[in-house]
Amino acid sequence: MVCIERMLTIKRVPTVVSNYQESGSSEDLKSRAEGCGRNCLGDCCLPVSKLPLYAFKNDEHERVEDIHGSCNGRCPQRSSLNNLLLGQWENRMNRGLFRYDVTSCETKVIPGKYGFIAQLNEGRHLKKRPTEFRIDKVLQPFDENKFNFTKVGQEEVLFRFEPNKGKTSFYFPSSLADSEKDSPSVVAINVSPIEYGHVLLIPRVLDQLPQRIDRDSLLLAFHLAKEASDPFFRVGYNSLGAFATINHLHFQAYYLSVPFPIEKAPTCRTMSSKGSYETGVVVSKLLDYPVRGLVFEGGCQLHDLCDAVASSCISLQNNNIPFNLLISDRGKRIFLLPQCYAEKLACGEVNQELLDTQVNPAAWEISGHMVLKHRKDYDEASEQYAWRLLAEVSLSEERFQDVKQLVCEAANLQPEDEYNSIQPEARYDSTSPQVTTHLRQGCLVLH
Ligand SMILES: [Zn+2]
Repeated sequence: MVCIERMLTIKRVPTVVSNYQESGSSEDLKSRAEGCGRNCLGDCCLPVSKLPLYAFKNDEHERVEDIHGSCNGRCPQRSSLNNLLLGQWENRMNRGLFRYDVTSCETKVIPGKYGFIAQLNEGRHLKKRPTEFRIDKVLQPFDENKFNFTKVGQEEVLFRFEPNKGKTSFYFPSSLADSEKDSPSVVAINVSPIEYGHVLLIPRVLDQLPQRIDRDSLLLAFHLAKEASDPFFRVGYNSLGAFATINHLHFQAYYLSVPFPIEKAPTCRTMSSKGSYETGVVVSKLLDYPVRGLVFEGGCQLHDLCDAVASSCISLQNNNIPFNLLISDRGKRIFLLPQCYAEKLACGEVNQELLDTQVNPAAWEISGHMVLKHRKDYDEASEQYAWRLLAEVSLSEERFQDVKQLVCEAANLQPEDEYNSIQPEARYDSTSPQVTTHLRQGCLVLH
């Protein structure tokens, strides 16, 4: 069922001011005249290009509890972003734009209590772009001479993803990027995918923002998670020093139709926003998980939750603490995971077993989806093994307390007594009616 709305299509009526316009549309001519010839995402080509546009509902005052369920399943737009994203992604797969076929990679759930997920991906690290910057600094200036997304060809872009002024989301199959307005934000394929539908969200691509969280960009990522409206679609972020490999602001996202172990971990409330108990943001810490981390939930309005997470990330950045983010449950639960792997690496303190695996513990790995590069590691992967690998990146309890203090101040929270732990609800239960399965048959081996 195609649910994508095609209610508006931008039509341009060109004014003929030159004979050259006779031989083609004004856009074609402009592209030829001003583009670099590669049809790229840079200043040369993007402002004169037509791309599909998904304009999402942008209601600043939308309440968090309205994110799903408000239309009782009758709303035809609920899955329109999923349809668009997956349709376009498969189109790029059929066109051979990926470096390997991720759907043929073996994946299994490691037997045990936590359900760590292991994927064997032998091709990924061989073809990866090298990291081109220091790993000991979370904030580094953008360098246009290094690889960045303005150099990407437009065939890798699935659509622009930008706010709509009104209270509805729209899809425009072809829309001219207006150079008068904000720089376009785009969703593009990750040519080295680690799962089905693996994409990049690149906010305001022409503004050449470095890999650094700011409030508006994080809100854009929240909206992507919310519009997808699928509990198995997660958005992740890696800071520099926490396995971001490109210093150009981007988020990643993909579908994985099983719960991540981190989503199932019990938590314990540790901070909450000052003011009303019912409407505030609540921050919990992970219990019984190999990596120490915080979970942000609640908030009366979408931007309350986003502001709390953004302020926390900005404080970590300013204090040079690398971190990973996982935006889960349609933008309603956010995991903030400070890590110290780069520092340990620099001091020669990383366990040799982890070094040998060549696993990069970024947002996905820390959340429990381990991308393994060697057949032996995959075949022998046990729960204890996964736990040991992840525990290497965790901050010590003492340093985690320092991070909590920073977050508490930055997000204007107050500490709570940590007493009873909370087991997460069965929100990722596969029998839930909201769940849609995107994995191809045979891709996931369940034990
Ligand atoms: Zn160009």
